[in-house]
Amino acid sequence: MPDQAGDLSIRFWGTRGSIAAPGPDTVEFGGNTTCLEIIAGKRRVIVDGGTGLRALGQHIAKTSEGEQVDIYLTHFHWDHIAGIPFFGPAYMDRFDVNFYAGHLDEKRAVCKVLTDQMMAPLFPVPLKVFKGCAYHDFKAGERFDLDGGVGIRTCRLNHPNGACGYRIDYGGRSICVITDTEHVPGRTDEAIAELVEGADIMVYDAMFTDQEYPRFTGWGHSTWSEALRIADLAGVRTVVPFHHDPNHSDGFLRQEEAAAQAQRPGTVFAREGTVLTA
Ligand SMILES: [Zn+2]
Ligand SMILES: [Zn+2]
Repeated sequence: MPDQAGDLSIRFWGTRGSIAAPGPDTVEFGGNTTCLEIIAGKRRVIVDGGTGLRALGQHIAKTSEGEQVDIYLTHFHWDHIAGIPFFGPAYMDRFDVNFYAGHLDEKRAVCKVLTDQMMAPLFPVPLKVFKGCAYHDFKAGERFDLDGGVGIRTCRLNHPNGACGYRIDYGGRSICVITDTEHVPGRTDEAIAELVEGADIMVYDAMFTDQEYPRFTGWGHSTWSEALRIADLAGVRTVVPFHHDPNHSDGFLRQEEAAAQAQRPGTVFAREGTVLTA
């Protein structure tokens, strides 16, 4: 059973975008790529399977006697799936692991993409060695009601090859995960604004600074200042800039965080290992 504090909470197992960036300059914010664990009452919901998923798998294997584990993928770029072949519970009988994705077209189902990821010569064992795993496709925009009073809502994001944003509701609280997505300056992404309306915590793609942003049109990412703008508009309580650029050092991110906090007190950049309660 999940063991985190609080009725609805999120733990960051990987905060980095693009590629893992371990080293002395990334100790504070973390070097692993995107992986988030959300505990909603008695349920565990994982968003993304970046390199952070390996340590989360070890944690689950050590602390749980067996359970259903749900992994919702934002999309399949490497930084969001590199940890999947190293997710211990997928190889263990006592866990039922479910993978979900909502942005693929019909020909490229979740199972097919994960099969390809572990196909020789890319990986030594095929996907079929996973035990008791199931693969689910849905269409971004759909919503699910899980047992235990957990609601999941989704929306399509603006990203090369597509991506899906998530909102997890439990006990009157909510956590949203909006990564990877590109905004059009001066124009509000209404699908995102609607999804995050009144959320307690919004984790948001802040790969680039405002200064960097114009050079990266079409890369599919956003900024912390856009996160703050959407949060103000949609009445979000706490903004958590996330999906840090591998070139952004701890010192640099601390400066950016201070600038964001000056504009919107309470904003906190995602740090690997941190737990936030909604
Ligand atoms: Zn990414
Ligand atoms: Zn991506």
